[in-house]
Amino acid sequence: MRILGLCVECLDKLSKESLEETFIPGDIVELNDSGVGIFDCPYGHKSAVAPHLEKYEILFESACLAFIDGHTRESVSSFIVSLERFIEYYIRVILLGFNIEWEEIDLVWKNMSNSSQRQLGAFHVLNLIDSKRTFSIDNWIEEFRNKIIHKGYIPKKEEVFMFASIIRDMILSVKENLINMHKEYVEKHYDRTLEERSPYTKGKKHIELANFYSMLLVKNKDDDFEKLLDQLEERKKALLEFSEAKGLKIKIGYGKQPEIEL
Ligand SMILES: [Zn+2]
Repeated sequence: MRILGLCVECLDKLSKESLEETFIPGDIVELNDSGVGIFDCPYGHKSAVAPHLEKYEILFESACLAFIDGHTRESVSSFIVSLERFIEYYIRVILLGFNIEWEEIDLVWKNMSNSSQRQLGAFHVLNLIDSKRTFSIDNWIEEFRNKIIHKGYIPKKEEVFMFASIIRDMILSVKENLINMHKEYVEKHYDRTLEERSPYTKGKKHIELANFYSMLLVKNKDDDFEKLLDQLEERKKALLEFSEAKGLKIKIGYGKQPEIEL
């Protein structure tokens, strides 16, 4: 997935010294597997930018971008992978809540990492223990997934929209519960995500984009998915304009930090 990358070092100087409208170099950067994008400033500075998102959220965003570009089959694959990574995320957060060490969780995960059915089984059991309720997954989701993965089916846009909406609702309902019941362990998991990013941020000015927009924000849970996709398309256009301009003009006052919409 591609996001906006700004020079964090030029940005830092701006917040201390300048009252004038100043041009901050930037461009589109590609996120790596750990969710970090590197921007090389024309003044020789190296910056690392990372959205405050977990892997499943980045994959969901990437799936939505493929969908709005008309790549229906590719977007379904990414929605599926996003759901699978969410299930892993859920299992890890719940196990952290039982005070199990990360290394032990890694070991148990290894036993199921190659089988989505095993992962789903673990998810159902842990969810039942945690919420005392059975989580039901629409049969159509499984049938549609198999048709795409195993039979090479090319889906219609409407079908993918329905598929993505159901997956989004599923993730958001479980995620909301996780945040309400296990906030401490949700944060602990994110600390691990930051640790995995550290080799890419080491030695560089680094910014964590805390307000990064995501299609999986719990606060936007009840927003119309179609409207959110339209907004994503607008942001994609803005990103291209930003890339053509090779940066942003920013103006701030004394004592204020720059406010940037990303
Ligand atoms: Zn710079």
